[in-house]
Amino acid sequence: MPDTTPADAKADLPAHPHALPADAVLATLAATPAGLDAAEAAARRKRFGPNALPQGRRRHPVLRFLAQFNNALIYFMLAGAVAAGALGHAVDAGVILAVVIVNAIVGFVQEGKAEDALAAIRGMIAPRASVLRDGRRIGVPMADLVPGDVVLIEAGDRVPADLRLLRARSLRIDEAILTGESVAADKDTAPVAPDAPLGDRRSMAHSGTLVATGQGTGVVVATGLATEIGRISALLGEVEALTTPLLRQINAFGRRFTWVAFAGAAALFAFAVGFRGFGWEEAMMAVVALAVGLVPEGLPAVITITLAIGVQRMAARNAVIRRLPAVETLGATSVICSDKTGTLTRNEMTVRRLVTADTGLEVAGAGYDPGGVRLAPDAGTRGLIRAGLLCNDARLRPDAGWTVEGDPMEGALVTLAMKAGLDPEPARSEWPRRDEIPFDAQHRFMATLHRVAPDEGVVLVKGAPERILSMCAQQETASGPAPLDPGFWNARIAEAAAQGERVLGFARRSMPADADGLDFADVEGGLTFLGIMGFIDPPRDEAIRAIAECRSAGIAVRMITGDHAATAAAIARQLGLADDPKVLTGQDLDRLSPEGFAAAVKDTQVFARTSPEHKLRIVQALQAEGRVVAMTGDGVNDAPSLKQADVGIAMGVKGTEAAKEASEMVLMDDNFASIVAAVHEGRVVHDNIRKVVAWTLPTNGGEALTVISAILVGFAMPMTPVQILWVNLILAATIGLVLAFEPAEPGVMRRPPRRPDAGLLTPFLVWRIAFVSVLFTAISLGLFFWAQGQGRDLETARTMVVNQLVVLEIFYLFNVRYLHMTSFTLTGVRGTGPVLGAIAVVVAGQLAFTYLPAMQAIFGARALSLADGALILAIGAATLVVLEVEKHLLRDRFG
Ligand code: ATP
Repeated sequence: MPDTTPADAKADLPAHPHALPADAVLATLAATPAGLDAAEAAARRKRFGPNALPQGRRRHPVLRFLAQFNNALIYFMLAGAVAAGALGHAVDAGVILAVVIVNAIVGFVQEGKAEDALAAIRGMIAPRASVLRDGRRIGVPMADLVPGDVVLIEAGDRVPADLRLLRARSLRIDEAILTGESVAADKDTAPVAPDAPLGDRRSMAHSGTLVATGQGTGVVVATGLATEIGRISALLGEVEALTTPLLRQINAFGRRFTWVAFAGAAALFAFAVGFRGFGWEEAMMAVVALAVGLVPEGLPAVITITLAIGVQRMAARNAVIRRLPAVETLGATSVICSDKTGTLTRNEMTVRRLVTADTGLEVAGAGYDPGGVRLAPDAGTRGLIRAGLLCNDARLRPDAGWTVEGDPMEGALVTLAMKAGLDPEPARSEWPRRDEIPFDAQHRFMATLHRVAPDEGVVLVKGAPERILSMCAQQETASGPAPLDPGFWNARIAEAAAQGERVLGFARRSMPADADGLDFADVEGGLTFLGIMGFIDPPRDEAIRAIAECRSAGIAVRMITGDHAATAAAIARQLGLADDPKVLTGQDLDRLSPEGFAAAVKDTQVFARTSPEHKLRIVQALQAEGRVVAMTGDGVNDAPSLKQADVGIAMGVKGTEAAKEASEMVLMDDNFASIVAAVHEGRVVHDNIRKVVAWTLPTNGGEALTVISAILVGFAMPMTPVQILWVNLILAATIGLVLAFEPAEPGVMRRPPRRPDAGLLTPFLVWRIAFVSVLFTAISLGLFFWAQGQGRDLETARTMVVNQLVVLEIFYLFNVRYLHMTSFTLTGVRGTGPVLGAIAVVVAGQLAFTYLPAMQAIFGARALSLADGALILAIGAATLVVLEVEKHLLRDRFG
């Protein structure tokens, strides 16, 4: 992408915004603290271009095509083609080249599709920025930011452009990406010296850095390449290589295999010439064809395709893979640790219960629509409701069917206020907010400072009830403040939590009228408790189903939540997580010895009032037991546990950029059921890779063994070199490919997770490869001798062998499509579109090979009689029956 900031436009950007007062910067940019209007933003977007850095360039198609040949297996094939050509066997050389080229084209096309799909999927999780436009807070794609935009940032965000800060609240930013400094830098709004180094520009938030704590607002002073990060790095977001541990394993196997094949071929060549009286040219061709037949040259490409299809299927089910190896790991997942709110529950909050020292009130209705319910609260309850409305950052949007902008729980508090006849806007301007302490999962409360009268201020606090109680010395009653009665409140909290309600406590404290800043010291003690509220947040129906599926799939589910223990336990029961879930709180965990911790983690389903550090320790403890752990997270502090987990899963909707960047997968709908869907797809991918290997290796083995036996024992070759090459060619881009597209076998989620340390080649698969290779060899040789015994000439017998091998491959395909159950079902016999298409091509190819005079001339084939054809098909069908019986007898024993 070219430099999108025209030279004349740069003139409008302030030269040293960090050294100027915020007002002066706003003036230079012709901006206001309320943000730009939409028309001006659009005009500036045209003038300044998108706020984006050039992407890592994708490889040129020609290079990508050539890269298909850069593979040990292909080198080996090319060497074979050169050898055949040098010996004057143009047809053989041509067929080998055709195999290589067909292979490269398939690889090129499929890899291109995979890269496109991955790029599109990555676009789904492109970061957005919160910006004030027309005075309203909206989310826009990061690329749409323009100089003059007013941007809001908070903990976990990646700063989307260079900002001159207008407001900073406990704001600390990790600027390691720019300055190398690992300690997050404190930010405020005062100008600094014009020549201050980057790390000392406290009044700035720079594009690409990560907000560690707090909140802030800033005006965009530079976008795209004009930002500090744009200046130092031309390339960000390198295109990720399409590779995984499994692919590396296969490639390493390929390299080793090539050398073994090479050595074996050389030995066989010597044997053929020395002991069997082959001419060296004849021996050379036989050995080259054999080696080519043996080399599974298509395997890496087919496995890449299988993985890419898995990624696409997962994206279709709202699980976006950020790192390709996760596709493999997901299939082996044995524990899913999930948040509660929004992931297992709907995150659609409704206030159900209000309790003050004097009264209790039940509230009707569900959702955010305040219509239809009218409350007539007493003065105490009204004070509680007002605290909920004002100690609150959410807004309701009636136009869009009553949706919430901001935290759903806070949205529910606005709805409640409206049900009580408290109009939000007038109430807010009546008690204007002067300052706040934002909510943080660490301290579990939020506080706001208001001016309530010319001579009076007040702090309103809401948060986890036990936390708020600990800050209070007295409680509000109808007859004025009274000493706090913790026993009463704890009983009320327990009642609400036992119903699965999420409970919040509220408190207030008078402040001097001139107070305009809020500190922790102002709220740590001496508050007056106003009461509690209980919110309902129903479990997601699909989460209940997904948890049941996990149970049958042998996957343990752990709920790790910041919520109250009793609430979490009640929701766990509603979800069917366990009949009588065992619950531990963060405090309980802190009291345990390391051994006790490990033991407790094993049989506890619910962890409540936990901190991000607990999450990290829980993952580590589970991993120490050999479990493969998937863990969800959304906050900036979740990053360490997301990184530690085998599959870190970030929330796409409510997750921070920091959490997304630390994770392997992002959920577009924040829904637990999507995790389980991804695990399901991960298992299908792994199955399909095993099927590809289970089909490919014995196919090659059978071909090779047939020829090796002929040379070793010393009878006429059952297939000529060029015929072996033909079998390779006709199968490479057809049946060899279809297993990548296989749908799930029934019952994928009724099996226990696979053992993570088990390699791809399980004992059953190794046995299969050996057994099928030998079986195919025996059948081919048997047919070959029988046909000659019946008086067929050598060419006809060879044509029968070639057709027999291909027919066996087709029947074997049907057997391999189901590794865990019989293939003799209606769906099994019917096949799928790709399967039938591939078979149609192979059959057409075989008919041409057998009956077309031109092909007969090239490949030395003869037309077969109908009876011979029928015999070949019958043998194929009988072999399928044998293989089905063998699968039935052995699959459970070998696993
Ligand atoms: P989960 O971890 O499953 O998402 P959670 O949302 O309850 O559960 P946190 O967001 O860490 O976890 O919240 C912990 C507690 O802090 C809540 O149970 C609640 O008591 C309190 N809390 C949450 N949000 C706010 C808020 N906006 N203002 C005040 N207190 C809050």
